[in-house]
Amino acid sequence: MEFLIFSLGCLLVALYFFLKPRFVQHRRRRIMQQPFPREWVEILEKHFPLYKGLPAPLQKELREKILVFLAEKNFVGRQGQEVTNEVRVLVAAQACLLLLNRKTNYFPKLSTIYIYPTAYFAKRVSYSGALVSETTQTNLGESWNSGELVLAWDAAVHGAKNTYDGRNVVFHEFAHQLDQEDGAADGAPILAEFSAYASWAQVLGKEYERLIRKKKKHRKTVINKYGATNPAEFFAVASETFFEKPRQLEKRHPELYEELKSYYVTDPITWYDRLHKKAVN
Ligand SMILES: [Zn+2]
Repeated sequence: MEFLIFSLGCLLVALYFFLKPRFVQHRRRRIMQQPFPREWVEILEKHFPLYKGLPAPLQKELREKILVFLAEKNFVGRQGQEVTNEVRVLVAAQACLLLLNRKTNYFPKLSTIYIYPTAYFAKRVSYSGALVSETTQTNLGESWNSGELVLAWDAAVHGAKNTYDGRNVVFHEFAHQLDQEDGAADGAPILAEFSAYASWAQVLGKEYERLIRKKKKHRKTVINKYGATNPAEFFAVASETFFEKPRQLEKRHPELYEELKSYYVTDPITWYDRLHKKAVN
């Protein structure tokens, strides 16, 4: 009898894990079919120029992904920050840009996004042997693998509007989420093919060391020198550069550009080409 109950329990657990992804997929497909409010399109067109650079099928995919993202994630305003549609749509749009063209589970560990009006103070506790020290630092964003992500709204909106400076706090923090998906913030997100890890480690490792050397020599770099902090920051900063300075990155760091292009399954150079043509016309 006990064995029967145990077997039944195992069967139910197996059934749950078998059916859950199907339920989730079904729910997401339904959400994607919901109308995307006109007001939200206006927010994208007004504040997120890269949206106009996307070809029509990718614009559609982005709108669908924004709907799913907003249905699944909570937004909480801090220090008086109001969570308006503009806040929700612009954060979701930048986050979901990292998910285009590929199978995704929508930052599965993330549940809540905290929005501060501007740079905020965060306490850091560090341990060195028996010594515990606490420091306070000013932050524009943070990504945790415990389900939270923090953003300063003025930096997030600046990042959306200014697509040429290589800085985007939303791309940065959500790249950390992608990196943290496998449990370790080590600069290696989950790659589509197992065979891709070797060249990822080789190219990103080499480029990370190169950035450290250039930083030490105070040389000019396309990739922000903050990327020399550790491999996780390197991946986050390289992702910002990939989406905001794709042409420069491709020219100076072609191997890195290729790795990011195959990971993100997209080529942002073509988006900027489209944006420029629109500007000329
Ligand atoms: Zn970071």
